[in-house]
Amino acid sequence: MPVSTVTSDKLESLNPYEIVQIQIDQAGKKLGVSEDILNILKKPKRVLSVSFPVKMDDGSIRVFEGFRSQHTDAMGPTKGGIRFHPDVTMDEVKALSMWMSFKCAVTDVPYGGGKGGVICDPRKLSKGEIERVSRGFIEAIADIVGPEKDIPAPDVYTNAQTMGWMMDTYSRMKGKFSPGVITGKPLSLGGSKGRNEATARGCAFAIEQAMEKLNKPLQGATVAVQGFGNAGRIVADLLAEKGCKIVAVSDTSGAIYQKDGLNLDEVKKLKDDKNSKITDLSDAQVLENPEEILELDVDILVPAALENVITRKNADRIQAKVVAEAANGPTTPKADEVLFKKGVHLIPDILANAGGVIVSYFEWVQNLMHYYWTEEEVNSKLKEKIVRSYNEVYDLAQKENTDLRTAAYMVAIKRITEAIEARGWI
Ligand code: NAD
Repeated sequence: MPVSTVTSDKLESLNPYEIVQIQIDQAGKKLGVSEDILNILKKPKRVLSVSFPVKMDDGSIRVFEGFRSQHTDAMGPTKGGIRFHPDVTMDEVKALSMWMSFKCAVTDVPYGGGKGGVICDPRKLSKGEIERVSRGFIEAIADIVGPEKDIPAPDVYTNAQTMGWMMDTYSRMKGKFSPGVITGKPLSLGGSKGRNEATARGCAFAIEQAMEKLNKPLQGATVAVQGFGNAGRIVADLLAEKGCKIVAVSDTSGAIYQKDGLNLDEVKKLKDDKNSKITDLSDAQVLENPEEILELDVDILVPAALENVITRKNADRIQAKVVAEAANGPTTPKADEVLFKKGVHLIPDILANAGGVIVSYFEWVQNLMHYYWTEEEVNSKLKEKIVRSYNEVYDLAQKENTDLRTAAYMVAIKRITEAIEARGWI
């Protein structure tokens, strides 16, 4: 589909694979790269579809299906998470692998993008069944993964334990300890210090840069965070440490607001207690419509839950000066246009949440060296990468008079294009 014929309204109804192809076209054309490069980038290099049998707890055998997509290995081995979810599709996995390429390239991490998924609902599986699905899937894709080929990591409904099982099965198959095959592992198996907080920490560093550019102090800046999970609650903590006032947070139970700043320790206690929810907080207002959290009059908004939450329907009502996309894909293309016109400083997901893949890269480097860094070393290297990438994207956006998302794609595509050309693929 030629870009010129796609209106932003139409973009909102496309699937992620179609959207990413159009994003590549748009940034690539602005950059002036050739049609040959665009054609290479618009399709993953390899997609493997697998099915594998798993013995269930009741003795029956269930056949699970999964996919692994490797977008481009021009800049290095491919890298990206494995998700366990009932809605996994091949198109979604392909699109996610492509976004990973741009996330790695914009932060100058020497990887291409990869992604994997297994169609299953881990909430309906026992721990033993999840372990057997994890081991079965890595065995099924073992031929195409490896420390120098393709390095998976956790994603939706997978975690350090899942990675530990997968690393163990891969190591047994190869007959040697192979921690570099996968990242996001437990610390006892070669995981990196600082990995758990990395996405949020990277996001907080990017916000700090944005506020500096806008000449606005972080001290006293008001913040709303949608989603109080791994990414959201740590961003809230880190921004509070820097002097921000966290005035609103939300999760699936609802949204809470306190204009003088929420007591985060109390919110965390309620979140961690199975018998309570964050909306039980006594000294806060519960928003009637939880989605209103996006429209509060705050300095900084962090969507850290779901995709497609800022759309053409609410974009005009967003009041935050800075929006930092801790979540993947929270803003639709049409909303992007509206926010840019309103002068909202939107830090795109491929930059705002790249801290996770950056520290995954650090984990892999440490595994290959068999030498491990302190948390301070990891955090300072992470800061250096985020600050450099943010400034590169910001400077290009200023020069091209475009939004930070387009500029981020331009930086990424330029870097991948240089690698493709240097390899002589075209
Ligand atoms: P998580 O499951 O730990 O947390 C998600 C949170 O969002 C939960 O608190 C949940 O209650 C809340 N939530 C769900 N639906 C909501 C709704 N409608 N309104 C408000 N809150 C809602 O997940 P996470 O790891 O924190 O990931 C969140 C987002 O960040 C995802 O888009 C993910 O892809 C992205 N991300 C995470 C990482 C990471 O390292 N954790 C890395 C890159 C991107």
